[in-house]
Amino acid sequence: MTEKIRIGKKKHIALIAHDYRKKDLIEWVRYNKGTLSTHHLYGTGTTGSLIEDKIGLPVKTFKSGPLGGDQQIGAKIADGVIDCLIFFWDPLSPHSHDVDVKALLRIATVYNIPVATNRATADFLISSPLMEEIYERDLYDYQSRHRKETLKALEEV
Ligand code: PGA
Repeated sequence: MTEKIRIGKKKHIALIAHDYRKKDLIEWVRYNKGTLSTHHLYGTGTTGSLIEDKIGLPVKTFKSGPLGGDQQIGAKIADGVIDCLIFFWDPLSPHSHDVDVKALLRIATVYNIPVATNRATADFLISSPLMEEIYERDLYDYQSRHRKETLKALEEV
């Protein structure tokens, strides 16, 4: 059974950028400052501090990405707190925390929240009329599927 989870008018938006994408994200945040100021912002350590320092928007800042910040944001998505993810990840550099990046993108898919991983998608997302409206997102029942698969696997033991 699919549950519905409400995304309120004020979104809880996580902002993350890898080092080579930080400039791009800061420019995007500056351009969209007016809209973003009406929502709640979260960020990994360096990205969040840069947004506060350079743009002057308040950001609830977690640890730096390589030190667990991506995982902290993933936990907030799983808890239903963060409901939108803007993650400018760098497609050319390998990272010490690549597995965390993958886990964060995975959990955002599991919980069916809007995700932008590049500027064009972020532009489409921020200009959507749904940014100003209440939205009921589907929460797929992965739990039942997982339970069924577990029970089936146990039958074979
Ligand atoms: P940072 O982390 O904002 O602390 O640089 C981002 C990341 O590398 O995931």
